[in-house]
Amino acid sequence: MQIELINTGSELLLGRVLNTHQQWIGKKLADAGYILSSQVTVPDTAESICDAVQKALGRADLVITTGGLGPTSDDITREKISAQFNKPLQKNEAIVEHITSFFAQRKRPMPESVLVQALVPEGALVFQNKYGTAPGLAMSIPSERSNIGNSQPWLVMLPGPPRELRPMVETYLLPFIQQQFPLKEEFHCRTLRSTGIGESMVEDLLLENLRPLMEQGLDLGFCARTGQVDIRLCGYGPEILQKIAKAESLIRSEIGKYIYGTDDDSIEKSVVDRLIAKAQTIAVAESCTGGFLGHHITSIPGASKVFLGGFLTYSNKLKEKVLGVESGTLGKYGAVSKEVSIEMAEGARLKSEADHALSITGIAGPEGGTEDKPVGTVWLGLSSIGRKPIAIRKFHPYDRGTFKQATVNQALELIRRRLFQDK
Ligand code: ATP
Ligand code: MG
Repeated sequence: MQIELINTGSELLLGRVLNTHQQWIGKKLADAGYILSSQVTVPDTAESICDAVQKALGRADLVITTGGLGPTSDDITREKISAQFNKPLQKNEAIVEHITSFFAQRKRPMPESVLVQALVPEGALVFQNKYGTAPGLAMSIPSERSNIGNSQPWLVMLPGPPRELRPMVETYLLPFIQQQFPLKEEFHCRTLRSTGIGESMVEDLLLENLRPLMEQGLDLGFCARTGQVDIRLCGYGPEILQKIAKAESLIRSEIGKYIYGTDDDSIEKSVVDRLIAKAQTIAVAESCTGGFLGHHITSIPGASKVFLGGFLTYSNKLKEKVLGVESGTLGKYGAVSKEVSIEMAEGARLKSEADHALSITGIAGPEGGTEDKPVGTVWLGLSSIGRKPIAIRKFHPYDRGTFKQATVNQALELIRRRLFQDK
């Protein structure tokens, strides 16, 4: 089955807005066994949109457009597509009602222009928009193509804002695709998420062992991101679940200690869940990451049960005043040192009375490096009740954003290992 995605929006081509729809829709579809065959981004002009749609419908079974369903003058997708396929727009009273009550609930005056969103091309299916006013629209398009079965291709138009598009894809588009284009064979997919081991190392350790399963149809993919490698196992057929399970157990026996979760899990989620299960608490002391570690932990629902707080001690003075780091230690070893990271972690744990405390102190750059402590050097400390504190040195000579992300991943990994090693 061929699925093509057309993202409309001049702002995407100007680089003002990141095209997250491409990644998000691509992943949602792939997780359900449908792989996008192509994707294109076009500006908000009638010619570009109609041309892209026409070409895509000449090849694909399903064409999805995003954006341009709103009420403003640059929102032309609905109008141009309905004209292109001679499907006159008709007012849909249920949508008028939805839009009217949408404004009434928010106690906002309703400009007349928004009712353009209640116009539906003749014969189109409507996907309700719970989080906005423009519904999604699905049209079956007559086609003279002989090469694509006997079915007519479908054209689905989705709204641009991610908070409107995503629930619509999950609630309406995916079930629509599954019903309209059922997979010929069962499909399953599982992703194992690892950290603390490089992509080529993962591949070296796994590829040979997994080859027999791959020859039987298991699809294996690696995806590396900052400090992490995802291992994606998927495939079609009646025995695919067993093959995936077999592959997972082989992978876990080889690199199990690096695997922190599956599918959409995150390291911070595994840390928070584990702390909840153990009824333990944590605090953090951050310097160069400026609260980014605390941000990650507090992004997880339930964090309030285990996260006591963070100390954002950027200057030496605050490290001394707030955490009790000795001025002698700072003077002798410097702020970016094993000794200071340990005193920070100990201080944070004692001040907060948490069971564990993590600390981070490093040089994000681009200035401030020395020969033995170049830009990118960072020390991570961990102090836990009844344990000797530990510290590890890492090196991330990247831009500040990547430096922070890699450092935070490793701090989370440090505590995750402790939580899972200790019974
Ligand atoms: P609206 O009613 O908000 O105008 P719309 O359906 O007309 O919705 P657009 O005007 O094309 O959609 O886009 C609205 C906003 O949605 C954009 O300004 C942008 O912030 C976001 N958006 C659109 N397309 C994408 C995309 N591909 N990836 C991420 N965000 C997007
Ligand atoms: Mg718009």
